[in-house]
Amino acid sequence: TEEMLLKSEKLSIVGQLAAGVAHEIRNPLTSLRGFVQLLQSKIDNYQHYFDIMLSELDRINDIVSEFMVIAKPQVVKYEMKDVRKIVDDVISLLDTQAILNSVQIHTEIGSEIPLIKCEENQLKQVFINILKNAIEAMPDGGNVVIALETDENQVKIRFTDEGCGISEERIAILGEPFYTTKEKGTGLGLMVCHKIVEAHRGSLEIKSVIDQGTTVELHLPVDSGS
Ligand code: ADP
Ligand code: MG
Repeated sequence: TEEMLLKSEKLSIVGQLAAGVAHEIRNPLTSLRGFVQLLQSKIDNYQHYFDIMLSELDRINDIVSEFMVIAKPQVVKYEMKDVRKIVDDVISLLDTQAILNSVQIHTEIGSEIPLIKCEENQLKQVFINILKNAIEAMPDGGNVVIALETDENQVKIRFTDEGCGISEERIAILGEPFYTTKEKGTGLGLMVCHKIVEAHRGSLEIKSVIDQGTTVELHLPVDSGS
């Protein structure tokens, strides 16, 4: 549809911009951070200001990092991979954050999940972003269920949380760069997901009920053709 086309066009423009700029911002940022830390250790006063400077520098770094995921002309290698393994890896990666938030992660794995043709690192990034959002949506703890199913020539991956939910008007604007409701959010995570899923010729759908929870469902073709 026209709307989808517009969205993908927007994404590719942002991607191109990011490719040029992100890398150049990273290096000066690293040296700035180093010198701020150095000054902080030499000066007794103004510690609070130094802390703010460091956390703001970290924020810039987070944004740039997410841009680089989209834009980096990394070697993209599509290979037949086991999605179950990728899900397991991602769960171990976010294990600590889940425990700290009293969140339990459960899996429901259907039988005979086929291998799919994918770029493993990119897919990992998608699962990380979705699972992180699920954990962050439950500040008082709860459950996340990751369900894997197969249907014809695709694998379906569903992430269901019991978090704060998203209102209907807001679901429509998800995936637009910089839309965030979090103090430390970048508003780029879902945009990265859309971009990667699109490259895999898959789809991403979000359903949500306020105060009940959110389900993010991915459909990935067994053979993305890439
Ligand atoms: P960020 O996490 O940095 O805010 P994202 O692109 O990952 O950026 O998400 C954008 C926004 O979408 C979040 O700030 C949040 O408001 C909403 N959102 C995403 N996933 C969920 C979820 N599982 N539950 C509730 N809100 C969500
Ligand atoms: Mg996020």
